[in-house]
Amino acid sequence: MSGNQTRLQAIEQITNRAPTLVSTPEPLSKIWAEDVFNLQKMEEALSKNAFKAIKKTVQTGGALDAATADVVAAAMKDWALGKGVKFYSHIFYPMTNITAEKHDGFIITNSDGGAITEFTGSLLIKGEPDGSSFPNGSLRMTNAARGYTAWDPTSPAYIMHTANGSTLMIPSVFMSWTGEALDKKIPLLRSISAMDEAGNKVLKLMGETNIAPINSSCGAEQEYFLVDENFANARPDLLLAGRTLFGAPPAKGQQFDDHYFGAIPERVQVFMQDFENKLYKLGIPAKTHHNEVAPGQFEIAPYYENANVAADHQQLLMTLMKSTAKEHGFLCLLHEKPFAGINGSGKHVNWSVGNSTQGNLLDPGSTPHANLNFLLFCGAVIRGVHKYGPLLRAVIATASNDHRLGANEAPPAILSVYLGEQLEAVFNDIKAGKLTEAAAAGVMDLGLSQILHFERDPGDRNRTSPFAFTGNRFEFRAVGSSQSVSGPLVAMNTMLADSLNWIAEKLEAALADSADQNIAVITVLQELMELHGNVIFGGDGYSEEWHKAAVEKHGLKNLPTTADALPALREDYIVELFEKTGVFSPVELESRYEVYAEQYVLAIEVEAKLVVDIATTKIYPAAISYLSELGLTATAMADLGIELETSLATSIAAESNAMMAAVGTLSKAIATHDFADTEAHMRFCADVIRGLMDEVRVHADLLETMVADELWPLPKYHEMLFIK
Ligand code: ADP
Ligand code: MG
Repeated sequence: MSGNQTRLQAIEQITNRAPTLVSTPEPLSKIWAEDVFNLQKMEEALSKNAFKAIKKTVQTGGALDAATADVVAAAMKDWALGKGVKFYSHIFYPMTNITAEKHDGFIITNSDGGAITEFTGSLLIKGEPDGSSFPNGSLRMTNAARGYTAWDPTSPAYIMHTANGSTLMIPSVFMSWTGEALDKKIPLLRSISAMDEAGNKVLKLMGETNIAPINSSCGAEQEYFLVDENFANARPDLLLAGRTLFGAPPAKGQQFDDHYFGAIPERVQVFMQDFENKLYKLGIPAKTHHNEVAPGQFEIAPYYENANVAADHQQLLMTLMKSTAKEHGFLCLLHEKPFAGINGSGKHVNWSVGNSTQGNLLDPGSTPHANLNFLLFCGAVIRGVHKYGPLLRAVIATASNDHRLGANEAPPAILSVYLGEQLEAVFNDIKAGKLTEAAAAGVMDLGLSQILHFERDPGDRNRTSPFAFTGNRFEFRAVGSSQSVSGPLVAMNTMLADSLNWIAEKLEAALADSADQNIAVITVLQELMELHGNVIFGGDGYSEEWHKAAVEKHGLKNLPTTADALPALREDYIVELFEKTGVFSPVELESRYEVYAEQYVLAIEVEAKLVVDIATTKIYPAAISYLSELGLTATAMADLGIELETSLATSIAAESNAMMAAVGTLSKAIATHDFADTEAHMRFCADVIRGLMDEVRVHADLLETMVADELWPLPKYHEMLFIK
């Protein structure tokens, strides 16, 4: 479709579109994971011993020997070739939120000119893409171009089918030749180890003897918008920036609340069914889908999985969502705020921590003993969010998420924890020393009866909290819809590891002082609550009062923009956190900061240039055409002796001039290049460029309400949101 199709042509195309064909879905039992080389397929293809070895690695993350790797590689190749695959690719996750891959053929030729296929353990284990084309922050100085990918056997390989053929995809890590992490998977795996080690210490002190490796689980709810491609093609801002940089508010937005869980338009249903079929074939457990609050907005939530696999599946889900939408004539918008004044899109990251022996450690459970473990792990989260709130804010800081946080029904840029009434009361009792006293007096029955009867689904889910306990997990609700879940998971796992280490140290001392485990646990938690209880907040996170009280009374930080939030990655206590836990070396962390800061600047510069371009070449000409039409009308009417009322023309002329003056100021600002460092450049984008873009928009949006509808070049909000 043409890149400059006009708005009216777009509407015609959409209204004349042929009805979508509804395909009958295939039975789940037939298609589930059919394109995944999972344990079940390995069991069929491998010897008993080889299977035992790979299964152990998959389930516990332990190392794999070279001989087994060879056998697995051969089986993987045979399985893939049997399904018509000719290429394989190590797929990896660079520091940008995208997914990268380099395709290699299985084929090699022999000396007789014949073709054979080859795939050995060493080819499976290691690949070598050109590292220079991926951002690496300051690591660029030290590592030249070379980068390596290495197979992650704990995330299953799968086949991607495209019009271009089928490829075996091998989930991998990506590192520099000096061994520094250049991707999002290495830190995630390291953070899981750090958490496992620290959690193990705590459980041992609690008298547990059989302790399986601890991992975190992640279930991500993904919100998104669908816009017809004909509209998208007439909006360079949607195509290039993923959001509308102009657009007057529609007469009917979401104020009627009639979209949430409303009927899904048929065309969208067909898309969803097709998309879910693809997910099932890839072993991604898509579970719920529904409309969201805003018109044109939808959500999909796969069932939760272990963090590493969930993160890979999340990336795959986003890629597939975009490509499938395209096949259905939609542009899928993962941007956090595609339409000003309309609800944005988030990615609620549901996160829990546990193992196969103690179960979900964030589940209050039904026995007092489990409750104590639960209280310690839950306390560890409270401490983590308090101590490392600015880190949690930094890992969700992007130019796009800045527009969402703190606006229309989205959590604020202040990190607090919501526990629910019952649990908050328990922790407050601990803080007030009530539970220790009762325990000492021997009348308390652990004093934890409240939790024994804990309601798993408290009626009052607090939608306003950025970080909420939801019965057996925490839900990080401030994460942006376009983001990889890895950054947030790394931050959560690492802060938890640090807190569990702190708890282990305190608990050891407390246990030396008191033989009573209950008293020891409550004593540690009392100290924890005194230091960190301020982060708990059960009220309305959207309210002005909270924004004030959070900072003034609770001592929390409000970090509204990425320019405010990202520098946390350079603060000593955060550098130390990552170094101590082995998740990032200081050099690696600095490189992340550089990459994310550069991406912020780039995103805003692209938008600013688009604002200048669209205002100058589309909006101004439309306004001027209409003015000249009005002028001709005035002349014609004057011939008849009637005077044209000129207030409309005067307003259009005034707004057009004001808009072009603002465009001039913005253009000058974009040309500014002398910044002391990236931080100064970010500040300039946040404090100057964004405001100047808004200034242009104010005048442009007013023009939209005055210029004749048929002359307006950009598809309007109500059209993009309601015409499907
Ligand atoms: P909501 O009510 O928040 O919209 P959904 O049912 O849409 O909830 O999504 C909840 C998500 O949380 C799902 O992905 C679900 O699998 C996930 N989830 C449930 N239990 C856990 C858990 N223990 N750990 C992590 N994620 C979980
Ligand atoms: Mg949710």
